[in-house]
Amino acid sequence: MKIRREFKIQLIVVYLISTLFALIGTGIMLKTQWENSIESAGVTATKDIDITSSTVKYILSNGSKLLDFINRDLHQLIIENKYDHLAIQQTISNSASIFSIDNDVQSYGLIIVTDINGNLIGRSDGQPLTDINFQDRFYFQALKNNSDKKFVIGPLLIARTTGKQIFHFAVPIKDKQDKFNGVLALQVDEESVINLLRNTPNEILVAVSDNNDIIFSTQENNIHPNPNSAIKFTDIFSNLNVTLGKNEHWNLDNDMIVAHSHSPMLHINFFSMQLIADIRTQFFSSNKNLIFVEIISQIIFTILMLFIYRQYLKSEQTRLVSTTDPLTHLPNRRAFDERYEIFLKESARNNSDICVLFIDIDKFKNCNDEYGHENGDLVLQNLASILQSCLRRPFDFCCRWGGEELVVVLPDTNETGASNVAQQILDTVRNTPIAINGHAPIHITVSIGIACAHNKAHVPIQNNLVDRADQAMYRAKQAGRDRFSF
Ligand code: GH3
Ligand code: MG
Ligand code: MG
Repeated sequence: MKIRREFKIQLIVVYLISTLFALIGTGIMLKTQWENSIESAGVTATKDIDITSSTVKYILSNGSKLLDFINRDLHQLIIENKYDHLAIQQTISNSASIFSIDNDVQSYGLIIVTDINGNLIGRSDGQPLTDINFQDRFYFQALKNNSDKKFVIGPLLIARTTGKQIFHFAVPIKDKQDKFNGVLALQVDEESVINLLRNTPNEILVAVSDNNDIIFSTQENNIHPNPNSAIKFTDIFSNLNVTLGKNEHWNLDNDMIVAHSHSPMLHINFFSMQLIADIRTQFFSSNKNLIFVEIISQIIFTILMLFIYRQYLKSEQTRLVSTTDPLTHLPNRRAFDERYEIFLKESARNNSDICVLFIDIDKFKNCNDEYGHENGDLVLQNLASILQSCLRRPFDFCCRWGGEELVVVLPDTNETGASNVAQQILDTVRNTPIAINGHAPIHITVSIGIACAHNKAHVPIQNNLVDRADQAMYRAKQAGRDRFSF
C-alpha cells in the first residue's frame, strides 16, 4: 500500500512538473510572439503613416497644379471680362482634360467654382448648375477672410453637389486687383483616397487638420459627416492621448498603438491607430492551432500517465498475489526471499543486529485429527493475526514459511529484544482462545527458535539464520514445548 502511494505521488509529481514545463514553454513562446506582433504592429503603423502622408501629398500637389492651371485660365477670363458661367464651365473642362493627359487628379473628385458670394458658378462634371451657396463652408470663409492664404484643406463633409463624402482642396480666385473673387475647389472623394492607401487589418488611418477637423478616415463606422459641420477628431477618438501638432513616432500605451506624423506644409496630422484588443484577437486566432496542439498533447500525456498508473496497479496486484499466502494472507516464502536479502544488506550497512524467530505450532497434527483439517486452517489463520498483533515495530516482518511454520524477522534487534518478542508471542498465543467450528474455543501453544546475528563492522553477516532458528525451535520442542530457545 505504501509503495503504491509513493508511486502515485511520484507519478503526480512527474505529471505536474512536465505539465508545468510544457505550460511555461508555451507561455514563453506565446509571450515572445506577442511581443513581436506588438513591435511589428508599431513598425507597420509607422510605415503606413509614411505611405499615407506621401500619398496625400502626391494627390494634393497634383491637385494644386491642376487648380493653378485652371486658375490662370479663369484669371484670363476675368481680365477679358468674359466672366460668365458658360465660359467658366468650358475653361474648367478644357483645362482638366488637358491636365488629365498625364494626370489623374480629376478621378479623385469634382472641381467647383464659386463667385465672390459663394454661389456655385462652375463644376467640372458638366452637370447643370444648381442653386448652391458655399458661404457656410469653412474653406470659403477662410480664403475670403485671409487674403494671404494660398490654399485650404478639409474638412470631411457630404458634398451638396454629389452626395459623396469629400474633403476640399480650395484655392482663392483673384480679380484684376488681386482681391478675393471666389473659390476654386477640388472636392476629393474620401473613398478614392482611401483606395490608394495601405492599411493593415484593424488599422485605422486618419488625417486631421490643425484645427482638429477630420479630413478623411479609413474607419467609416464611427464617422457620419453631416453636410454642414466638420467632425472633430477629439470627439471621435477621445481616448487617444496624443497632442496634436507634435511630430512624434509611434507610441504605445496599454490600449492602442499609435503612429503620428505632421505635415507642416499641408497643416495635416496623420494618425495610424490600432487597438491592442484587436491585435490580441488576431493574435489568438492565428495562434489557435498552437494552443489546440498544446491542449491535445496535454490530454494525450494525461491519458498516458493514467495508463501507466493502471498498468502499475495491475502488476502490483499480480506481484501481491504471487507473494501472499492465500490462507493466512501473510507474505509467503517468495516474499521472504525478496525481503530477507534487503534486511541483511541494511543490517550490514547500518552495523545493526538482526534476529529470526522460527515458530511452529505444538502438536498440530493432534489438532487436525481432533477438530478436522478445516478447523486446523482456522487455527492457522488465527495464529497469523495473533502474531501480527504482537509485532509492533514497522519493519518487523512475518511470513508463512510453510505448513504450520511461521518465520518472523526482527531487524535492528538483539537477543534480549528477540526474547521479549518471543515471550510476548508465547503468552498471547497461549492465552488467546481460538474459535473453531462445532467445538468450544480451543487454546494452542507454539514453540519458538531464535537465531541472532551481531553485525560488527567488517564481519560478514551470517545468512543461515533461518536454519539456526529452525534448529533452535527443535531444542524448544525437546525442552517441553510452549517456550523459546536459542
Ligand atoms: P510438534 O509439536 O512436534 O510440532 O507436533 P506437530 O504435530 O505439530 O508435528 P509437525 O510440526 O511435524 O506437524 C505438521 C502438521 O501440520 C502436519 C499437518 O497435519 C499440519 N499442517 C501443515 N500444514 C497445514 C495446513 O495448511 N492446514 C492444516 N490444517 N494443517 C496443516
Ligand atoms: Mg512443523
Ligand atoms: Mg508442529
